[in-house]
Amino acid sequence: MTDERVVAVWRDGAAVRVPADQPVVTAFDLGLGRGDGVFESIAVVGAGAPHLPAHLARLARSAELLELSDVGETVWRALVDSVLAGWDPGTDGVIRLFLTRGLGQGLPPTALAVLSPVPAEVVRQRTDGISVITLGLGVPADFRSHAPWLLGGAKTLSYAVNMAALRHAAARGADDVIFTSLEGQILEGPTSTVVWSADGVLHTPPLETGILPGTTMARLFARAADAGRPTAVTPGTVDDLRAADAVWLVSGVRAAATVHTLDGVPRGDGGLSASVRELLAR
Ligand code: PLP
Repeated sequence: MTDERVVAVWRDGAAVRVPADQPVVTAFDLGLGRGDGVFESIAVVGAGAPHLPAHLARLARSAELLELSDVGETVWRALVDSVLAGWDPGTDGVIRLFLTRGLGQGLPPTALAVLSPVPAEVVRQRTDGISVITLGLGVPADFRSHAPWLLGGAKTLSYAVNMAALRHAAARGADDVIFTSLEGQILEGPTSTVVWSADGVLHTPPLETGILPGTTMARLFARAADAGRPTAVTPGTVDDLRAADAVWLVSGVRAAATVHTLDGVPRGDGGLSASVRELLAR
């Protein structure tokens, strides 16, 4: 069991591994001062990152939305290889890639990678499921697709609201959150995509709502389609989730966490979680 965190930073044209407690950005880095940057969280299994390409594609898209100069795939792969070197294949981990505007003014961006073990709490949620509350985000469902300044669809470093929502949930005895639009449409979790099953169809909300395009949801839906299982992009409501046979929050690190309680009301999964996890594990 690896219990350490590993850090690599792009410096002078090379991926440089640095001690985890060593500073890697200055106090003036715009990622620190403004949350002006993007990131990715990538599952590590067997000392590899099998879904890296999908995450690098999304990172490039996020950078584009922020008009942030990206360092490119070769640099990211070098950073990933650097943190993975020597990692215990028996320890599930998570790599976080960070790209910030650095010191701004045409200076190079900051690019770094951090690898740490998957927290025990997250491992527990994979099998035991989660209790979720719905919280309003205060935007109409179709607003962010016409408001590029709100950075819908980008995985930015400005996750303070997402983290506050999780603390709000924890204070109410829940594990996680599903954000809803002003009209009560389902959006996403603070760190996950919402998927539900109804009448044998797997559903997820439309990207036009400004939610992040989940790589795990995309993989799940592609594999479900291959297996002849219908999928749909549906602008669902909380009532749809209540009536669904099963609801999951899906993400790379957590896979499909079954929602066993929604807004304080216990709910089942129609025995469907095992097959969804099996699709993701393929
Ligand atoms: N939505 C948000 C807001 C997220 O932060 C994440 C993951 O971190 C996801 C969805 C799920 O994305 P993925 O499946 O690519 O991990």
